[in-house]
Amino acid sequence: MACPAKSSVQAALVVLSVAHLTAALKCVCQLCANHTCETSADGACWNSVMLVGGKERVDQTCLTPAEMRGQLFCYGSWNVSKRNCCFTDFCNNHTLHLHTERPSQEEGGWSRLQWVILVLVLSSVLCVAVLLAVCVVQGTHRCTYGRAHKQDPEEPLDDQVLMSPDKCLRELIYDMSTSGSGSGLPLLVQRTIARTIVLQESIGKGRFGEVWRGKWRGEDVAVKIFSSRDERSWFREAEIYQTVMLRHDNILGFIAADNKDNGSWTQLWLVSEYHEHGSLFDYLSRFTVSVEGMILLALSIASGLAHLHMEIIGTQGKPAIAHRDLKSKNVLVKKNGTAVIADLGLAVKHDSTRNSIDIPTNHRVGTKRYMAPEVLDETINTTNFESFKRADIYSLGLVFWELARRCSARGFHEDFQLPYYDMVPSDPSVEDMRKVVCEQKYRPNVPNQWQSCEALRVIGKLMRECWYTNPAARLTALRVKKTVSQLSVNNDVKL
Ligand code: ADP
Ligand code: MG
Repeated sequence: MACPAKSSVQAALVVLSVAHLTAALKCVCQLCANHTCETSADGACWNSVMLVGGKERVDQTCLTPAEMRGQLFCYGSWNVSKRNCCFTDFCNNHTLHLHTERPSQEEGGWSRLQWVILVLVLSSVLCVAVLLAVCVVQGTHRCTYGRAHKQDPEEPLDDQVLMSPDKCLRELIYDMSTSGSGSGLPLLVQRTIARTIVLQESIGKGRFGEVWRGKWRGEDVAVKIFSSRDERSWFREAEIYQTVMLRHDNILGFIAADNKDNGSWTQLWLVSEYHEHGSLFDYLSRFTVSVEGMILLALSIASGLAHLHMEIIGTQGKPAIAHRDLKSKNVLVKKNGTAVIADLGLAVKHDSTRNSIDIPTNHRVGTKRYMAPEVLDETINTTNFESFKRADIYSLGLVFWELARRCSARGFHEDFQLPYYDMVPSDPSVEDMRKVVCEQKYRPNVPNQWQSCEALRVIGKLMRECWYTNPAARLTALRVKKTVSQLSVNNDVKL
């Protein structure tokens, strides 16, 4: 039982912490106008220092309540990074340093022996450093897993190991997938990465803000920039990407999320792997694909969707996720001819223990042209999570149709077109789509020529089985994946 004195102290602490977690605060902020920021209610002032590229990097700013709930903002170890949250006006108005608060040496100076050992250790470290430098100069590859810091899988990764200056993206992403939570890098590491990216050129525009190509330590990354108006979308997409066990070869590789306040407005960044071919829409508009190329793309899209839809049970499990905006503009093509599913901003997760969906859903979200019939006529049963997966499968069928048209088999292929290009105007309304898809029950045309090529015949049959009017009759993503997988074996195509 807790002793009375101890429990009254605890009670006082609780009261104190509740008291300071209420009003707005003014804090020192290096990057803000007048070097001052103001928190929302329940926010905190934040002070931090961490090693970046061997130098101390100090950060003073305001924290939102959401950030305070994050894993790491208010904690830190003295020799790696130090972070402080405090709760009075300008309480972060001092500069933190690493290494300055080492526990003081026991009384008395060092013995001669200790000095000798120190000199020996320092000179061996110097030798190793010189040797390493020589290796680097001679062209040793910068990014190999073998040489990377061997981390005990049971130990949490510390920020310094994660941010060591020779880390490349591939290693960081590897660290992410093996780090304890399996859900992404610590928030502070994400922030540090995001703040050392140099933007290069705008590469795309979608529903929210703009997508840029940026450079991080010489490597390309993609940065999706949301305006502060779209904060909820930024938060949601970052949250979905950090779902435990979501990482997959055919889901866009998430790297970091960051909110940067420049004084007058907040820029919200989402950093991911960059794919120079851009979206499947861009790719198919420019190029045709061989039979093997079509199978590879179809198999990777189906594999990505099957992974998204699948629930993995267990402590390191993942919930089933439905995308809700699958289309050729939200699939990206990798250099090796495979694809990843991107833009998870509208996705929903299934909580199978409570049989509920993690956010309130309105009936009609997504892109009208790709909406399933039950979404268009609002007969979709939103209380059943399967409904969202089935609507994704309908959209998958349309993406397969766009892909198959560009397959150049025996020299024959068609031009690139969006689904229903010949039946609705270029920016169709829900009503335009509903008439064609629900009332007239039209579907994109599957040309007869496809029958003469096994791969096109199989993909053609698959798409028809994806776009049935009855959602329950449609194939599952796993079924589609298995069928395309068989096709890939028959055609000697490897994912
Ligand atoms: P929105 O939510 O605004 O639709 P998306 O994430 O779909 O944003 O991105 C919009 C476009 O930007 C994509 O269609 C694609 O052309 C381009 N894009 C997005 N992410 C990347 C990336 N990682 N690599 C290359 N291009 C990308
Ligand atoms: Mg998009």
